[in-house]
Amino acid sequence: MQTTFIGYPRIGKMRELKFAVENYWKKNITEKSLRATAQDIRMEQWKVMKNLRVSLIPSNDFSLYDGMLDLSVMLNAIPKKYKDLHLSELDTYFAMARGYQGDKGDVEALAMKKWFNTNYHYLVPELYDDTEIKLNTTKLFSEYQEAVKAGIKTRPVIIGPYTFLQLASIKGNKTREEYVNEIITAFCQLIHQCEEKGMEWIQFDEPSLVMDLDNESVHLFQRIYEKVLIEKSNLKVLLQTYFGDIRDCYKELISMPFDGIGIDFIEGRKSLSLFEQYGFPENKTLFAGVINGKNIWKCDYPKTLTLICELKKFTDDIVISTSCSLLHVPYSIKSENKLADDILEHFSFAEEKLYELQELSQLADQIDSIENINKQVCSNQKRLNEDVRKRVSLLNEDDFSRNPIRAERQILQRKKIGIPQLATTTIGSFPQIKEVKQIRKNYKKGDISLAEYEETIFSFIKDCIKIQEDIGLDILVHGEYERNDMVEFFGENLEGYAFTDFAWVQSYGTRCVKPPIIFGDIKREKPITVKYSAYADKLTKKPVKGMLTGPVTILNWSFPREDITLKEMAFQIGLAIRDEVLDLEAAGIQIIQIDEAALREKLPLRKSEWHSEYLDWAINAFRLCHSKVKAETQIHTHMCYSEFDDIIKEIDCMDADVITFEAARSKLIILDTLQATAFETEVGPGVYDIHSPRIPSVDEITKIIRKMIQKINVEKLWVNPDCGLKTRGLEEAAASLKNLVEATEIVRNEL
Ligand code: GLN
Ligand code: ZN
Repeated sequence: MQTTFIGYPRIGKMRELKFAVENYWKKNITEKSLRATAQDIRMEQWKVMKNLRVSLIPSNDFSLYDGMLDLSVMLNAIPKKYKDLHLSELDTYFAMARGYQGDKGDVEALAMKKWFNTNYHYLVPELYDDTEIKLNTTKLFSEYQEAVKAGIKTRPVIIGPYTFLQLASIKGNKTREEYVNEIITAFCQLIHQCEEKGMEWIQFDEPSLVMDLDNESVHLFQRIYEKVLIEKSNLKVLLQTYFGDIRDCYKELISMPFDGIGIDFIEGRKSLSLFEQYGFPENKTLFAGVINGKNIWKCDYPKTLTLICELKKFTDDIVISTSCSLLHVPYSIKSENKLADDILEHFSFAEEKLYELQELSQLADQIDSIENINKQVCSNQKRLNEDVRKRVSLLNEDDFSRNPIRAERQILQRKKIGIPQLATTTIGSFPQIKEVKQIRKNYKKGDISLAEYEETIFSFIKDCIKIQEDIGLDILVHGEYERNDMVEFFGENLEGYAFTDFAWVQSYGTRCVKPPIIFGDIKREKPITVKYSAYADKLTKKPVKGMLTGPVTILNWSFPREDITLKEMAFQIGLAIRDEVLDLEAAGIQIIQIDEAALREKLPLRKSEWHSEYLDWAINAFRLCHSKVKAETQIHTHMCYSEFDDIIKEIDCMDADVITFEAARSKLIILDTLQATAFETEVGPGVYDIHSPRIPSVDEITKIIRKMIQKINVEKLWVNPDCGLKTRGLEEAAASLKNLVEATEIVRNEL
C-alpha cells in the first residue's frame, strides 16, 4: 500500500524560517540568504520524507508566508495598491502579507482569516474590477525542479480554484461569477505546463467542499473542473478534501474525471457512510486520510487498521494519507528533552506520523482480517483520575443553572457592590512592561527564587492598583502580571497538562503558537489566582475583579485528548475553574471575570452541527463555572473578535451578568444586534482599539458612549477598552484610560 500526506510544516524545526524572514524584514539578511534558508528547510524535509519511505512526496506545500497568498500571486491577483509601490517581487509579496509603510507609500495588509476550523490564518485574496487573473508564477515549478534535482519526483500541491473563488473577497462591482472563466483559463494553463514538465500528479486542495453546499455551489464546482480537467492527458489530478466530509457533493464528485480523490476519515464523520451509500469508483485512486493530521497523539493502530480493512472493501487502489496537512502539528518529538518518556511515548508529531504511515502500510498489506491486529497500546495510568471522572459523572441540571434569574441578580449586585452608572473598567491585563518580562525570565532560568519572584509580582500589582485609582476607574483589576498567557498559566497550574519546549505550530506568517497538551484528566489541586486577587482587593476600597480563563477557551487553545470527548474535557476544566471561582468568592472577591476569548473559534464548519456538536456543551461548560456563586457575586465574561451576530442568543445564554467585548475595531456594528435581540446580559462594548498605540481622544470616546446609550439601556452599559492592555506601553495605556474616564464623566453629566 502506498503512502503520502497532504502537506508538511514549513516554519523549520527550530523555527529557522521565522527567524530568517524576520531578519529579512529587519534588513539584517539579503533576499538571497533568505531564499537559501528556505531551500535548506525544504531539502532537509524532503530527505526526512525519503528516508521514511513516503511513496508520494508533495511539494509546493512550502511557503514563505502563506499558501493562499502564494496562490493569489500565482494567479496575478495582486491588487494595484501593492503593484503601485514598485517594490521587488518578494517585497510586494510581503507588502500584501503585512502591509507597507515607508518611502514608497502606505498600504494596509490583506485581511487575515481563520483557515476553516484550525488556528492557522490565511490571507484573504482580493479581487478588484481591474484584477486580471492569469498564470503568473514560477514557484510551483521551481520547487518541483528543486526536488527533481534532489532525486525526488514530487506531487505539487496547490489550493484549488473552487476554494480560491469561495474565499476571495470581491472588492469591485464585478460579481464572483465574472471571475470564473479567467480562473478556469489560468488553471488550464497550469495543467498544460505540468504536463510539459512531465509531472505525474498534481494535488488541488478543495477544503471548501466540506462546508454546507447548496446546489449552485456544487454546480459551480462541477463547471470549473469539467473545463479544467479536459486539458489533462498524462498528468493525474488529485482532488483533495479535508476538515470534514463532502456529503453535499460526493455523489457528483465520484463521476468526475479526477484520477485521485482525497477523503478525510478522521473529521469526516460521514465519509464512510458515503462510501456505503455510493461506493467508490473503480478507475480512481483513493487517498485515504486515516492518520489525524491535526492532533499530536500516536495513531491507534487497531482502530486505523480496522478502518483500512473496511476501505479495502470498496477499492484496492488505496494510498494511505493524513486527514489534513501536517502544517497543524509540530515537527518532531525528538526535540523534546524534558518530558518524561511515559508521557512522550503517547505523542506523534509530523515526522512520527510519516513513520506511522510507513508502518501502517506494511501492516495493512499483511493483515487480511481484523483479528490479527496487535492490540498494543501505551500505558494509560497517568491519564486517569477517578475523582475527576466521578465528579463529572455526577453533574446534573443544577450544576448548569444559576439562581435567582439574572434580572434579579443584576439589581442586587449593583446595590451590594456599589456599581455606578456607566461603570468604567478594563479587561484585565495591564502592560507587560520590560521589568515584568525580565523577572519572569529570571525566575524561569532559576536566577531568582519563587519568593523573590512573587514579591516582585505583588509590587507590580500594588503599582497597578495605584495607577487605576489615580485614573479614577470604578472597577479595578490586579493586572495579570503573574501570567504571560491566558491558557498556559492555567495549564501549568492544573494537573493533567503537559508542556513541550519546541512544539510550535504556525498560526500565521512568522507567528507560531505552542499549545499546551491536555494529557490526562484535569484537576485543580490548589488555588491558582486567589492570592493575587485577594492582595489587590485589600489595597483599595474599590471593587477588584478576579480574572480567570474559561473552560472553552482553555480547551480550544490546547491540544485536546483523543480518548475522551471535547465535552468531557470541557466539563473537567469547568469544574476546576468552578473551584477557583468559589475560592475567589470566599476570599471576598465580589466580581469575577471568566474570559471566553476563543468561544467562537471551534464552531463546527456546518451550521447544522453548531448546537449538537459544540454550543450545547460549550455553553454548559461555562455555566458550570459560575452556577454555584451567590446572587450578589457578579460574573463577567469577555470575548474578542466581534463576529457574534449569529451566536448572540447563545452568548446571552451563558448567563453571565456582564460581558465586555471587542467592538471599537469593528465600528460598533454589534450594537444593532444587541438592540434587536433584546440582549439581557449587561454589556461593555469596547470603546477603543487596543491593537494600536494611538491614544483615543476624550471627544472620540464621548461620541462613542453617546452612540451606545442610544441603543443600549444606560443601566446595563459598561465602559471599557476592546481587550486587555498587555501589549501596550504603560504611558499610552494610562493616557487612554484617563480619556476614557473623562469621557464617561462627560456623558454621565448629560444623563
Ligand atoms: N483578561 C485577558 C487580558 O486582559 C483577556 C485577553 C483576551 O481576551 N485575549 O489580557
Ligand atoms: Zn479580548
